[in-house]
Amino acid sequence: MRITCPCCGERALDEFAYYGDASVKRPDIASPTAMADFVAYSFDRVNAAGPHRELWYHSAGCHLWLVVTRNVANHEILNVEPARDVARATQQLPTPGRGSA
Ligand SMILES: [Zn+2]
Repeated sequence: MRITCPCCGERALDEFAYYGDASVKRPDIASPTAMADFVAYSFDRVNAAGPHRELWYHSAGCHLWLVVTRNVANHEILNVEPARDVARATQQLPTPGRGSA
């Protein structure tokens, strides 16, 4: 399997480290239901065949965090994007250089 890093181009898998499911959100530890939320976060996974969003780190390259959409049935890479762009899109974070005061 090869991953095309947006910064470095196509690279071998051994340059990257896998950090798990990118589609789950870490629960709020201050929540009154934190214990049950963390149990569900840790153990309740679907594990379905097909496209899956994964968090990867280009550890032997540019050190960019990536969200890789991969078909887990055939390992086809469908999309690779910097994790910071995904975070900005989902959390509406300001873009550097265009931020507010
Ligand atoms: Zn890279």
